[in-house]
Amino acid sequence: MNRYFIVGTLLCFCCAFPSYGEDYSAKRHKMVEEVLADLAANGNPAPGPDVVQAMEKVERHRFVPDWLTRFAYINRPLPIGHGQTISQPVIVALMTDLIKVKAGDKVLEIGTGSGYQAAVLAKIVKSVYSMEIIESLGKEAAERLAALGYGNVQVKMEDGYYGWPAEAPFDAIVVTAAASHVPPPLIAQLKPGGRMVIPLGAQFMTQFLMLVEKHADGTVSSRQIIPVGFVPLTGGH
Ligand code: SAH
Repeated sequence: MNRYFIVGTLLCFCCAFPSYGEDYSAKRHKMVEEVLADLAANGNPAPGPDVVQAMEKVERHRFVPDWLTRFAYINRPLPIGHGQTISQPVIVALMTDLIKVKAGDKVLEIGTGSGYQAAVLAKIVKSVYSMEIIESLGKEAAERLAALGYGNVQVKMEDGYYGWPAEAPFDAIVVTAAASHVPPPLIAQLKPGGRMVIPLGAQFMTQFLMLVEKHADGTVSSRQIIPVGFVPLTGGH
C-alpha cells in the first residue's frame, strides 16, 4: 500500500462521511459574517435584522446534496443536480433584503431549486408560493421543506413565467433564474406598492439583478442593482 493509496482512501472516506459531529451553527454564523462583509465591501447596505436572523437559522447544509454538505457554509453557489445551483448566500441575503418583506406578507418565488431561498423567506413572511419547472427538483424541495417543518411554503411544478394567478396578488416576487425580460404576468400579479427582484440577461453574458417596483398608482419602475450570474429561466414563453 503506497502513501497515495492511503491518502486517496482517507479523502474518499472524508467525502463520503462528511458531516458527523460538525458544529453547523458556528459555521453558519461565520458564513453570515462573510455575507455581511461581502455586501459591505461591494457598497451594498447592510441587510435588515430579520434577513440576518433568517440566514442564521436556515440550515443550508440540508439543502445541498450529501456529498457537498461540508461545503454548505462557504459563500458560494453549489450544484444541486439537473445543471441547476443553490444560489450564493450573499445573493440570497441581498435579494431577500431588496424586497423589504414583512411578517404578514405573501411572496412568490420563481425557481424553487433546492428550496433554500424559499426557506429563508419562510422564516420572515406569512406564506411563500414557489414554482419550479423541473418536476423532480420541485418534488424533492417540497418534501425537504415539509420534513424540515416549513409549513408555510407551497411548491408547484409549473412554468413560473406565468406566475401563480390563483394566489395573486403578491406583496413581493423573487425570480431566481435569469430572464430576457420581466415577465408581464409577474408584473400583473404584484400588488401596488410591491417589489420584485429578477436577474435579467443571457446565461454566461452580463446579467443584472433588477429591482422592479410597482407603485401605489400602478406605474412600474426598475433599477439595476449589481451584475450577477444565474442559470436561465427556461420554459415555452
Ligand atoms: N432558489 C433556488 C435556486 C434556484 S436555481 C435555491 O435557493 O436553491 C434556478 C431554478 O429555476 C432552477 O431550479 C430551475 O430549474 C428553475 N427554473 C428555470 N426556469 C424556470 C421557470 N420557467 N419556471 C420555474 N422554475 C424555473
